[in-house]
Amino acid sequence: MVLRSDTPSVAFVTLGCAKNEVDSDRMARRAEAAGFALADDPREADAIVVNTCSFIEAATEESLEAIFDLAGIERPAGGVVPLIVAGCMPARYGDELEAELPEAAAFVPCSKEDDIAELLAEALEVDLASMRCGSASAGRAASTAAVSAYVKISDGCDRFCSYCTIPFIRGRYRSFPYEEIEAEVDRLVSSGTREIVLIAQDTGRWGDDLAEPSTLAELLARLAGRFSNTWFRVMYIQPEGISDALIETVATHDNICSYLDIPLQHVKPAILRAMNRTGSREEFESLVGRIRKRIPDATLRTTLIAGFPGETEEDFDDLCEFVESVDLDYVGVFAYSREDGTRAADMPDQIDEDTKLERAQALRDIADAACTARVAERIGESMEVLVLGCEEDGQLFGRAKCQAPDVDGVVYLGEGVPGQIVSVTIADTLLYEMEAE
Ligand code: SF4
Repeated sequence: MVLRSDTPSVAFVTLGCAKNEVDSDRMARRAEAAGFALADDPREADAIVVNTCSFIEAATEESLEAIFDLAGIERPAGGVVPLIVAGCMPARYGDELEAELPEAAAFVPCSKEDDIAELLAEALEVDLASMRCGSASAGRAASTAAVSAYVKISDGCDRFCSYCTIPFIRGRYRSFPYEEIEAEVDRLVSSGTREIVLIAQDTGRWGDDLAEPSTLAELLARLAGRFSNTWFRVMYIQPEGISDALIETVATHDNICSYLDIPLQHVKPAILRAMNRTGSREEFESLVGRIRKRIPDATLRTTLIAGFPGETEEDFDDLCEFVESVDLDYVGVFAYSREDGTRAADMPDQIDEDTKLERAQALRDIADAACTARVAERIGESMEVLVLGCEEDGQLFGRAKCQAPDVDGVVYLGEGVPGQIVSVTIADTLLYEMEAE
């Protein structure tokens, strides 16, 4: 195959969540180490990898749109640029996809992503052994770290919530060893990263499946001690994962953000049992109380699902009351999505689409009113902000410890340089955004 230059180049296009971004970065580094150059623009690359998301139907549709958009790009020497479909879609749909997507040159499910270099070489008809090792560059260097970066601490999930496709897509839960996580953090910190966001499908379980069992509290304490100038933040801690030891670890380390992201999904025991989850409104209120007793200024985020099969008006009202009465800082609301292959999809008493969307919007409005009022209470508060960069219009912005990437607001700043941590006082807020004096 005739290439654009001596070094074959590849562009990665990522759909979906932060966990997919981490996977794309890992694939990009593998490709780079094998001698491929990384291209920013898919239209200028010799090959394209689309890392797909497929955990709900809407995400699958978005991934398909991206694939169709990038399929059939013509190469200067004739023919089309090979398109490799990676990630959740091939993992969820398997062989079915091959017949449906003739546009793809190859499929790489999550479990095979470490073979990306070999697959690229095959698609481009190049010999890996004769390609130079080490980093190549054609636009983007995977080794240049951002000010803030995600690090995955485990993959898969064993909880099998009845509405969720993730355990079928990502497989059983497996923690990554401490040494592997530490090496990744070290690599990022050495190249300038100041904030590490630890993610997984179920971060609170980390360590219990290792040969030498450990805990998330121990992992955090070790990382925070070893990298004392780096901020650490953890996302997606299931309620069962909030141990007293974890609360204590967060409370006693300045460089661990007092930010806990705890997906609750609902508060009615009957709905939670149908979801194959545990808890109740009383238990969650007590959990919030336990955290706030030890860390009064903790920032708490959750996600909730409206319109799960069997959810009555009364169940939904209870969920709304919970959001109104418990001091949560951020609440993500989703309408239940009926996914093929899950137990919930076959449950009786499915809620019609319009009602689900109406309930989700009503809950979102209640959450926005409560949470933006809490953001406004921060006016006059002094806090540290990690400077991230500039918006397109040149406005400088950063992130405080009470704000998680991608899901919460930011702090707009008057001065600072990316990577610097500045002390500011909050002068004003607009919904979820804050403005520093
Ligand atoms: S814990 Fe999260 S990833 Fe695991 S099954 Fe439940 S919703 Fe899915």
